[in-house]
Amino acid sequence: MKIALKIDVDTHQGLGLGVPRLAAMLKREGVVASFYITMGPDNSGRALIRVFRNPGFLSKMFRTKAVSMYGLRTVLSGTLLPSRPIALAFPEVMRDLKRSGFEVGVHGYDHVRWQDQLDRIGEEAIRLELADAFEAYRAILGQPARSFAAPGWRTNDAALLALDEANLAYRSDTRGRAPYRCIVAGRVLRTIEIPTTLPTLDEVMGRPEVPDGDAALRFYLAQFKDDALNVHTIHAETEGMGQLEMFTSLLRALKEHCADFVRLEEVASSLNVAELPVCPVVRSTLPGRAGWISAQGEATAA
Ligand SMILES: [Zn+2]
Repeated sequence: MKIALKIDVDTHQGLGLGVPRLAAMLKREGVVASFYITMGPDNSGRALIRVFRNPGFLSKMFRTKAVSMYGLRTVLSGTLLPSRPIALAFPEVMRDLKRSGFEVGVHGYDHVRWQDQLDRIGEEAIRLELADAFEAYRAILGQPARSFAAPGWRTNDAALLALDEANLAYRSDTRGRAPYRCIVAGRVLRTIEIPTTLPTLDEVMGRPEVPDGDAALRFYLAQFKDDALNVHTIHAETEGMGQLEMFTSLLRALKEHCADFVRLEEVASSLNVAELPVCPVVRSTLPGRAGWISAQGEATAA
């Protein structure tokens, strides 16, 4: 059983608190992983405010999971309080990850802007988001980024084409079944796409069959496939914080099942590009997730 842990870091608090806790636990357990970090400002409050735009916003926010999952400072970030930087606030955390043998990739610049406005901002703004993100990465780690994971699993033709010029080893932008190459407007892209293959914890928690952490653990153990590459996306803000104990139990159970943990960069370098299927990127929806995501379409003859 081969498992690649893809750890998305969306917020200031996620990088400052969640990542060091997760990294320490992973090191203790002897598990490798790949981290994707949002390079720009933390505007996560704006993403929440759009959900709670009507009167009673604050009381609603406290009644729901928003505050317990993300913390009050985060849900107000970029709204009532100014947005805080993410990567640039914690360069040492990123360097520590690298030094400890974890993979570090880019998870966009302004996560909220990308996720909410990707189709509206236009090609020029998309290229600027990418340029800013890659520049911040290089400034912090002293080397160019080799991987990109789209915020919110959302991409479009302009983003895919721009990223294909970025000299990446791979992207992990979509949900799907197995690694593939994307075809955009009749053109097969160079860059490998390694999709996330499992649902995320926030999509799964709260389903009738997954009422609590123990049920989530059982759910995931049944999801991992023995004969395929499993790409599991987790979040520094959830599995690195409130759900750290549950996630640690899951990792221990997977180790007992002889799981082989790999970094996505190793997966990418082991693939034979010419043999990968060619698939369009389509728009889809997922149970437990609001709005659209980008997904692997059916293979086509290139
Ligand atoms: Zn994210």
